[in-house]
Amino acid sequence: MNFALPDDIKALQESARKFAREVMRPKAAHYDEKSEFPKDIIRQAAELGLMNMTLPAAHGGNELPHLAQAVIAEELAWGCAGMATSMIANDLALLPIVLGATAEQKDKFLKPFTESFKLASFCLTEPGAGSDVAGMRTTARREGDFYVVNGQKQWITNGEYADQYTLFCTTDSTRKHKGIMCLVIEGRPKGLTVGKHENKMGQRASNTVTLTFEDVKVPVANRIGNEGEGFLLAMATLDNSRPLTAMFSVGIARAAMEHAIDYAKQRQQFGKPIAEFQAIQFMIADMAADIEASRLLTYKSAWLLDDGQRNTLVSSYAKRFAADMAMKATTDAVQIYGGYGYSREYPVEKLMRDAKLIQIYEGTSQVQRLVIARELLKG
Ligand SMILES: Cc1cc2nc3c(=O)[nH]c(=O)nc-3n(C[C@H](O)[C@H](O)[C@H](O)COP(=O)(O)OP(=O)(O)OC[C@H]3O[C@@H](n4cnc5c(N)ncnc54)[C@H](O)[C@@H]3O)c2cc1C
Repeated sequence: MNFALPDDIKALQESARKFAREVMRPKAAHYDEKSEFPKDIIRQAAELGLMNMTLPAAHGGNELPHLAQAVIAEELAWGCAGMATSMIANDLALLPIVLGATAEQKDKFLKPFTESFKLASFCLTEPGAGSDVAGMRTTARREGDFYVVNGQKQWITNGEYADQYTLFCTTDSTRKHKGIMCLVIEGRPKGLTVGKHENKMGQRASNTVTLTFEDVKVPVANRIGNEGEGFLLAMATLDNSRPLTAMFSVGIARAAMEHAIDYAKQRQQFGKPIAEFQAIQFMIADMAADIEASRLLTYKSAWLLDDGQRNTLVSSYAKRFAADMAMKATTDAVQIYGGYGYSREYPVEKLMRDAKLIQIYEGTSQVQRLVIARELLKG
């Protein structure tokens, strides 16, 4: 066993850290306040190789090990979790293609992302189907060489700016998960309407919209896998992406802890820095230990993938543990700042708002517990 990161991953960590410190951090408050989309910063991340990390080398991609992706994800979220979510949304949207497409489809739908800056969206959630993915109602009716898609997708990251959509829909909603399939939609075809950008609590730099599909024609050739295979493809995608969202929690919590330590050393009450009070020290000590535990658990979930093993159980441990940890660490950071923590003039309330989303998207903390229990109880 070796806990040291390999040199090539350390170099990637340093480059992501520098980008987060010099480019993302200075603009984080602005994009949070305005809830604008930082397209130029996201473009720079893509140019540095900090996006599209999963794309196979055989199709022009970087094909970074999952461990390297996780290390980068921590740094990006330390810079700004909203921006990081929009950056990693590309990997989430392209993963079903990486995992399930033919070589020809990979060339068509992945290669353009390695050649120029493009954005993609992963379209699974619907207004009436969030945790209950198999309850989706967006339908695809086959007509010759095309599917005709009707329905609505909700909370779609980067949906307003995407050049390509990975859509999960059903050929027969009565068949639940067995009716689901995956289609790639190129550009903005007739019948696809983008709704208004959501005015969110946190991660406000990320773009989040509703998409409406009215008789959208999609070539059958754009189907990834077979009809009925979409549910398993979506679940395999989430197994791959959970280490990244878990590491977002680590990045957010680390930022909160660093701010809390700096503040506790300089804030004086009762004639001494509040860092000298044991109550404050204990909050910081718990943050540090929980951050390290989350990081190690998440590294393991990424390592399992790199080792060719199924990581469903451990990646759910990691996402659940790390998301709940970040919520606690950021809440405690606000507590250490006292009244100033509650003000938008100081950085920690943003981290608390940003952390909340990790307990919700890509499977809520409750759903992670369901996955863990199902894995442990089956058989
Ligand atoms: C900012 C943002 C960005 C997002 N980006 C994307 C994206 O790019 N693509 C995409 O497809 N989706 C995206 N999502 C959707 C996200 O994955 C869903 O919001 C999430 O899966 C939860 O679904 P829901 O909101 O419908 O909540 P619900 O499923 O309605 O859950 C409501 C509550 O009930 C609990 N609950 C539900 N079922 C159970 C159960 N069986 N047992 C116990 N508790 C349960 C949940 O844990 C939660 O607390 C995004 C969401 C947000 C907020």
